[in-house]
Amino acid sequence: MSESTLDEIIIKGINASPGICIGKAYIVDKEGVDVVGKYYIQGKKKRQKEIKRFKAAVKKAKDELRSIIDSSPEELQHAHILETHMALLKDKSLYGKTVETIEKERVNAEWALKTVVSDLKAIFQTMTDSYIKERASDIVHVSDRIMHNLVGAKTENIAAIDKRVILVARDLSPAETSQINLERIMGFITDRGGKASHTGIIARALEIPAVVGLEKATAQIKSEDLIIVDGNAGIVVVHPTEETLVEYEERKIEYEEYKAEITSESHMDAATKDGYQLEVMANIELPEEIESVRNYGGDGIGLYRTEFHYMNRPEFPGEEELFGRYKDVVEMMAPKPVTIRTLDINGDKALTNNSGNDEINPVLGLRAIRYCLKKPDIFKTQLRAILRAAAFGNVRIMFPMISAFFELRLAKRMLEEAADSLEKDGLPYSRNLDLGIMIEVPSAVITADVMATEVDFFSIGTNDLIQYALAIDRGNKQVAHLYQPLDPAILRMIKRVADVSKQKGIKVFMCGEMAGTPHHIPILVGMGIDELSMNPQSIPVVKRVIRSINLEDARKLVDDALKQTTAKNVFELVRDIFGDTLADHTYSGNFKLDQ
Ligand code: PEP
Ligand code: MG
Repeated sequence: MSESTLDEIIIKGINASPGICIGKAYIVDKEGVDVVGKYYIQGKKKRQKEIKRFKAAVKKAKDELRSIIDSSPEELQHAHILETHMALLKDKSLYGKTVETIEKERVNAEWALKTVVSDLKAIFQTMTDSYIKERASDIVHVSDRIMHNLVGAKTENIAAIDKRVILVARDLSPAETSQINLERIMGFITDRGGKASHTGIIARALEIPAVVGLEKATAQIKSEDLIIVDGNAGIVVVHPTEETLVEYEERKIEYEEYKAEITSESHMDAATKDGYQLEVMANIELPEEIESVRNYGGDGIGLYRTEFHYMNRPEFPGEEELFGRYKDVVEMMAPKPVTIRTLDINGDKALTNNSGNDEINPVLGLRAIRYCLKKPDIFKTQLRAILRAAAFGNVRIMFPMISAFFELRLAKRMLEEAADSLEKDGLPYSRNLDLGIMIEVPSAVITADVMATEVDFFSIGTNDLIQYALAIDRGNKQVAHLYQPLDPAILRMIKRVADVSKQKGIKVFMCGEMAGTPHHIPILVGMGIDELSMNPQSIPVVKRVIRSINLEDARKLVDDALKQTTAKNVFELVRDIFGDTLADHTYSGNFKLDQ
């Protein structure tokens, strides 16, 4: 069937990364084998053969698991989960029962396995203990692995895709997203995910268009379907008509022209019309992004997310490797500042795909500084690497997810110990670096006056602050409409942190995604945020917006905004006062209320 005979479908999702791409879909199916056929196996010999086939699939699953366990470093501490999976492969209720079902029911191995697993799942799910209940997912993982081997399904290796395509997946983990080969993958769309998920952040860092939270894209789209991804508007068009295609080709050119135009002025300072100067910094995940930070005119690095050096690999990096990477970034940016955030692992950045984290609530669990304080060796390795890199340029250090004062004290003490150990080892390092914390948990907002006594700066991480303050999973599509940076609760929190910083004489920065969104800029300027940090692509437009407004007007806006009762009212206020200016200086798709 040719494209033109199929009806055009428009699917709305969440605009996770700007840009437009047009191309063939490539379905990434990583979620097991959904459709399993049933057939009867007549004759004893044939059934013996079928059992042998099942046993071979189990053996292959064991070998695969064993090699995953062997290549996992001790620190990952998920080996015990995989060992549990290993034991399940031999378990009577799964293994024995499937063999028995093939024999007794005279059915194929896939069908037998499927029935046994659904019976087991049903039993587990009736249990009241939530831990035991959760173990049903272990059975599903294990049986999926066997099922894949039985039907000969290949597991997707995103890095190995060798065609120019657009990925269509139910979900992509941050680790998978960071494996994307930019020469091949034009963009991606997913059924799940929210704007502030780390997957979206990586898409923006890679500068590929992405739309997430589409719900049923994988059901509506087949591999090879022609699709358009509009990452500005958060729309996907499947089987576009000739007319739509022409329209989007034009929009694509228009957007690329707009981007080239604002990029050409990115090296100008970001000062308001009445002369108030802000620094506009970049968030990076990998040293490779420094090039684009320079192209887009970043005044420094406001957030270096260091966890990506720990992902997609069997072992944690050592001090020399980390030192080398940090030193490269610091030297390339010198004399501009580089804010290195210590490891923010776990939460939605689980260490390995699926299996690194067996916490029921990982986002409220052993994440970021909590993880580091519990793993002093891993933390000290990183701290030593940062202190050593600090000898080569302008380094700041920042601790993520501080929720209690004692954590800050403890982290500082460990930093001192790391410095002492470098002194003892006679290695060059610098203690002369600014130290700050991320403000991303409500308790840190409330105790900001206490926290301020121990730091040189705060950096407000709105991605998590919104998540924790409004109780909204930042990656969950179902509640994405509630994820509002302009929510009165969030505005008041930012205002408090900014006011406390001024009173205590420390600097206040923002490095959450809110800082990179044009229509939030007047409010942030008016609140007195000293530095805004964002994905490099957003720097030119944010600088341009700053240059087009007055500090005085921005302050007045803040006074009025704080009197509003809903995010929508605040948005309308921004639109009424700054709408024309914003429309003149941004790409039209950027200016709308957050979804
Ligand atoms: C944040 O939470 O706002 C932030 C910048 O950190 P991350 O997105 O890495 O959690
Ligand atoms: Mg965060």
